[in-house]
Amino acid sequence: MITIDGPAGAGKSTVARLLAERLGYTLVPTGAMYRALALSVMRSGTAAREGPELQAHLAPLSVSVKAGRVHLDGEDVTDVVRSQEVARVTSEITTLGSVRAKVTPLQRQLAAEGGVVLEGRDTGTVVCPDAEVKFYLTATLEARARRRRAELSAVGAMAPLDAITTELRARDTQDETRELAPLRKAPGAIELDTSDLTADQVVQQMAAVVERYRGDAGSRPDVPPASNRLYTVLKILAVGTMRTLFRLESTGRENIPATGPVLLVANHSSLLDPPVIGGAAGRQLTFLAKAELFEIPGFGGLIRRLNARPIRREGVDPGALRTAMRALADGQAVLIFPEGTRGDEGVLRPAKAGAGMLAVLSGAPVVPVYVKGSGHAWPRGRRVPRPRKVTVTFGEPLRFDGERGGDRKQRYEIASREMMKAIARLRDGTTGGACRPQPESYAGRSK
Ligand code: C5P
Repeated sequence: MITIDGPAGAGKSTVARLLAERLGYTLVPTGAMYRALALSVMRSGTAAREGPELQAHLAPLSVSVKAGRVHLDGEDVTDVVRSQEVARVTSEITTLGSVRAKVTPLQRQLAAEGGVVLEGRDTGTVVCPDAEVKFYLTATLEARARRRRAELSAVGAMAPLDAITTELRARDTQDETRELAPLRKAPGAIELDTSDLTADQVVQQMAAVVERYRGDAGSRPDVPPASNRLYTVLKILAVGTMRTLFRLESTGRENIPATGPVLLVANHSSLLDPPVIGGAAGRQLTFLAKAELFEIPGFGGLIRRLNARPIRREGVDPGALRTAMRALADGQAVLIFPEGTRGDEGVLRPAKAGAGMLAVLSGAPVVPVYVKGSGHAWPRGRRVPRPRKVTVTFGEPLRFDGERGGDRKQRYEIASREMMKAIARLRDGTTGGACRPQPESYAGRSK
């Protein structure tokens, strides 16, 4: 994952395209996605301010990127969105929460599989803070204004240099001072001043950085160790405590392969779920837990040492997905909660897209897990747990074949649905033989 941020006119879009071509990566031009929304707002006459009217306008819109080109409701708008008028409205609407909330998850989803170059203002700070290589491009205001003029005249629009300079200065201020996702150099980003460089020279420098990174042993995501002594010791203590407090019981442990990759997917209604599943499973697990927990002093460090790794819960979190993919590739057992957040005891909610994506992309066996009683023992909103019985049931493994044809996104959704259905069968006690999804479910026929 490569991010390129910087002010307007620093040359990001040109070098991002060239770098992506050179590496064979997918280009995600985030500014163009915002421009597409601005175009739609302009065409519809919707007021460019936060409110129900704007939200209602944005909700049904589809913005997608194919081969580096941006589509608005299926129409290729890559060229039309380059006008100065669209740029002005874009700068206005990108300060609005509903606009950013519409586009950021889409960008994360596009980035999730890796092999991407993202280009914009907040790609290294907000969209993909876990990107392996981050660049921050700058150039003097004069150099940027000259480039913008050349870009505009290429699409048949002429504008005087001083007007462009004024406009750029205004956009710099807007981008740098807005409250949401302001333009900033991301920590660890490599800064390149492109004022006196050609696009090819910039790309050359960037490619050299990527090459160095690839040759660097530090390129591994932060995967927990295969065997963890602290985990072993604390597990013995925790299991003893949980047997006493919650009369912890488990069935179906044999469904977890003793070695090799396996993805455990569980319902989630309590903070107790990770320790009870970890306690009931016969092998050490790697957990994905909400990122906020890692910010709690002391606790964050402890759960990290107990094989937990952070996941951001809105949209798909590419960094967490990569960590989980790598842990599975290393033959580990990874536990995720597809519903994302805790819900009520016994109530199952739809899985997030990332869960199905991980299952399909990794090709690992997926063991459904149902935890019963934890939502009574320690529900959301209670400060301390109370003694209630908790049982953990492990179901037979499912497999989601990564090689099948069809629409990728649809396959992820089907996998997400199938795993929740398998968990529901465990809850309802209707497990029989192996619950493999039927081939036709990949054509999207099964509900
Ligand atoms: O890069 P480009 O000029 O196409 O971006 C258009 C506008 O979109 C910028 O002025 C900026 O305000 C906004 N933008 C943003 N966040 C991004 C990319 C662009 O707010 N990640």
